[in-house]
Amino acid sequence: MTAHDIVVVGGGCVGCSVARSLASKSDLDVAVVEKEHHLAAHQSGRNSGVLHPGFNYEPGSLKARFATEGTRRMKEYAAEHGVPIEDFGVLVVARNDREEAHLETMQERATENGVGTELLYEPDAIAEHEPHATGQAALYAPGAASIDSQQYVYSLARDLADRGVDLYTGTRVDDVRRDLDGFRLDTTSGELRAGYVVNAAGLHADHVAAEFGVGEGLQVVPFRGEYYEVVPERRHLCETMIYPTPDPDLPFLGVHFTRRTDGKVIVGPNAVLAFGREAYGNTDVNPRELAETLGYRGFRRLMADPKILKVGWDELNRSYRKGKFVEAARRLVPGAEADDFTRSYAGIRAQLVSEDGDLVKDPLFEHAGDSTHVLNAVSPGLTCSLPFGDHLSDAVLENLDR
Ligand SMILES: Cc1cc2nc3c(=O)[nH]c(=O)nc-3n(C[C@H](O)[C@H](O)[C@H](O)COP(=O)(O)OP(=O)(O)OC[C@H]3O[C@@H](n4cnc5c(N)ncnc54)[C@H](O)[C@@H]3O)c2cc1C
Repeated sequence: MTAHDIVVVGGGCVGCSVARSLASKSDLDVAVVEKEHHLAAHQSGRNSGVLHPGFNYEPGSLKARFATEGTRRMKEYAAEHGVPIEDFGVLVVARNDREEAHLETMQERATENGVGTELLYEPDAIAEHEPHATGQAALYAPGAASIDSQQYVYSLARDLADRGVDLYTGTRVDDVRRDLDGFRLDTTSGELRAGYVVNAAGLHADHVAAEFGVGEGLQVVPFRGEYYEVVPERRHLCETMIYPTPDPDLPFLGVHFTRRTDGKVIVGPNAVLAFGREAYGNTDVNPRELAETLGYRGFRRLMADPKILKVGWDELNRSYRKGKFVEAARRLVPGAEADDFTRSYAGIRAQLVSEDGDLVKDPLFEHAGDSTHVLNAVSPGLTCSLPFGDHLSDAVLENLDR
C-alpha cells in the first residue's frame, strides 16, 4: 500500500494548482488522485477558456482578488510554459438603458479592482473592436484573454512531475476511513494512505466532503453549459470576444461569443439544469443524481424564485431548440444565421447551493481535522486557479502546523 503525506483528490486546475503550490512550499510528499484516465476531463477542460480580469466582481471579494491576480499570473505562466494564449480583450455589449447603466456600475467596480476598461458609446467605436456586434454602448476590457485550459492543466501536471508529485490517473476515491495514522483511501486502483487529504473533486466535492462529515447544508447542483461552434467561413463574425451585459441577479454570464486560441469561435454556454453531474448530453440522465437534486430543499427554494424559474425555462428551451439559442446569439451579432452554428461540446458547472436556496458565489473551502475541502470553485475558477491554489496551500500548511 502506498503512503503520502498529502493526497489531493481531483486532477482539475484547482487540484493540480494546490498540489503544485504545496510541493513548492514544503518538503511534504504530495500525490494527486484523478478518477479519469486524463486530466481536466470535467470543468477544467470543458469551459470557455477565458481569463476574466475581474471587472465584474464585488470589490473586496475573494473572487475579485483572485481574478485580477489570476489573470496577470496566468498570462505570465502561459508565456513561460508555452501554453497557448491570446490577449484578445472582451467587449461587453449593452442593448438598452438598464444594461448601459449596469455597464457604468461595472466600470466603477473594475476601477476599484484595478482593472482597466473603456466605455464606448459610439457605434463606430464598437465597430472598431467588433465590426459585426451591435449595441447602444459597450464596455471594453483589454485585459481579458483566451487560454487553452486543457494544455494549462497538463502544464501544471508537468510541474508536478518536476517537483516529485505522484499522479494517479484512472483512480477514483470511493471510500475514506480514518485510523490512528491518518486516512485510508479506498480507490478503484487499491488502497492509498494519506496523512492529510485535500478534496478538490469539483462536481463531486460535496460527496467526498460528506465522507469526512463536512459540508452539511450545502449541495452541488450541476448546471450544464452547451456550446455551438461558428462554421469556419463565418468566423469573421467575432474577431475577439463578445459578451452580453450580465444580469447582476444571476450567477452565469449569458450566451457569448469567444474566439479560442485555436482560432475556432464558440458560442455559449447556456445554463440548464443537468440531469446528472456528468450528464453532458441533453438526453443523458443519472436517475440517482437527478433525484438527489430534485429532493434537495436548497434547490427547491432556489426554484421558488419566479425569476430563476423563468430563466430556467428559457435556458431549457435554448438547450432543446436551436432557434432559441441562435436568437440569444443574434442579440449580440445580428448578422449571424442559424446555419452559421453547429453543435459543439458541453461543460457542467458545479454550483454550490445552500439549504436556503442561495447560490454560493465566492470560492469556499473548509478544514476538518487533517483534511481541507474545496466546496466551491465556481467560475471564473480557471482564472483564479493559481492564486486560489496558493491560498489553499497556505491554509493547508497552517492547519497542519496546528
Ligand atoms: C461551461 C463552463 C464554462 C466556464 N468558463 C470559464 C471561463 O471562461 N473562465 C474561467 O475562469 N472559468 C470558467 N469556468 C469555471 C472553471 O472551469 C471551473 O471553476 C474550474 O475548472 C474548476 O476546477 P476544479 O479543479 O475545481 O474542478 P474540475 O475541473 O471539475 O476537477 C475536479 C476533478 O476531480 C475529479 N474527481 C471527482 N471525484 C473524484 C473522486 N472521487 N476520486 C478521484 N477524482 C475525482 C474529477 O474527475 C475532476 O477531474 C467554466 C466552467 C464551465 C462548466
